[in-house]
Amino acid sequence: MTVLDPSSSVVTFEPENKEIDKRWGVPQKLFVPQNCYHCGRAPCIESCPKGAIERRADGIVHIVADKCIGCKQCILVCPYGAIQFNDKIGIADKCNMCAHLVDRGQVPVCVSKCPYKARKFGTLDELSTYIEKEKIKVLVIPELEWFQPAAFYCKGGHKF
Ligand code: SF4
Ligand code: SF4
Ligand code: SF4
Repeated sequence: MTVLDPSSSVVTFEPENKEIDKRWGVPQKLFVPQNCYHCGRAPCIESCPKGAIERRADGIVHIVADKCIGCKQCILVCPYGAIQFNDKIGIADKCNMCAHLVDRGQVPVCVSKCPYKARKFGTLDELSTYIEKEKIKVLVIPELEWFQPAAFYCKGGHKF
């Protein structure tokens, strides 16, 4: 079962088989951060009355700040609760996959700065090949597969 809370910045996975966490004696849970999944089918793009949410050729979904009027429609429709409202400047805001760094051939900050090296960045082909080669179990949220998320969470303590 997956607990989704659009107002939260994390998602909780509760495995079907309810494995017991030996450390605490309670069913396992996994908390994951909720940044944008850069969906292949992105309802946020369709919802925006100003065309302020665009998909780049490389798949990155980003908000064009100059076009946003702060109507919050996109916040309502994002199935992952990945868009926040920036009260200071009155517009919607979200993860843009650090596009400015990607354009310079660098990786996103959350990838390069994660102290546990828990994140990996690449094209879908590169990541799929890696996942297949390493036989890594990918956690999916079945209810949300339709949106074709381009970010994945994997189970286990893999060092990338
Ligand atoms: S996760 Fe939300 S904000 Fe990101 S592309 Fe999908 S619908 Fe849009
Ligand atoms: S808040 Fe901005 S980006 Fe979101 S739907 Fe409204 S105009 Fe578009
Ligand atoms: S550091 Fe960059 S890629 Fe990572 S969540 Fe923030 S905007 Fe997205």
